[in-house]
Amino acid sequence: MLCARECPDWCIYIEAHKYLAPPRREGGKPRQKNALDRFSIDFSLCMYCGICVEVCPFEALFWSPEFEYSEPRIADLLHDKSQLGIWFETVPEFEAYEPGSEVKVKKVPKP
Ligand code: SF4
Repeated sequence: MLCARECPDWCIYIEAHKYLAPPRREGGKPRQKNALDRFSIDFSLCMYCGICVEVCPFEALFWSPEFEYSEPRIADLLHDKSQLGIWFETVPEFEAYEPGSEVKVKKVPKP
């Protein structure tokens, strides 16, 4: 949900509902879980800043090489999770960092 909250254009729409799942152990309490009902991005508003990709703690958003998705009607640029899932197939594999670009561990002086 950070993506929708941090998007400067407010063009990510998320809707979900809660439900009770059975307990993990016998005699336990039912667990409350969230189910995603809607995840849509309005590409008529998106400015490709990438903030949504950067802030996601679960790395659930990716850049895709898909860019030719023009539509005759501007309303059709609102893409839901089924369309976004199709583009997921075109996401390139993760490339390893260049040698020497790893984060250096800071040395803490001993007291
Ligand atoms: S890339 Fe688009 S959807 Fe993501 S935060 Fe920026 S404007 Fe919003």
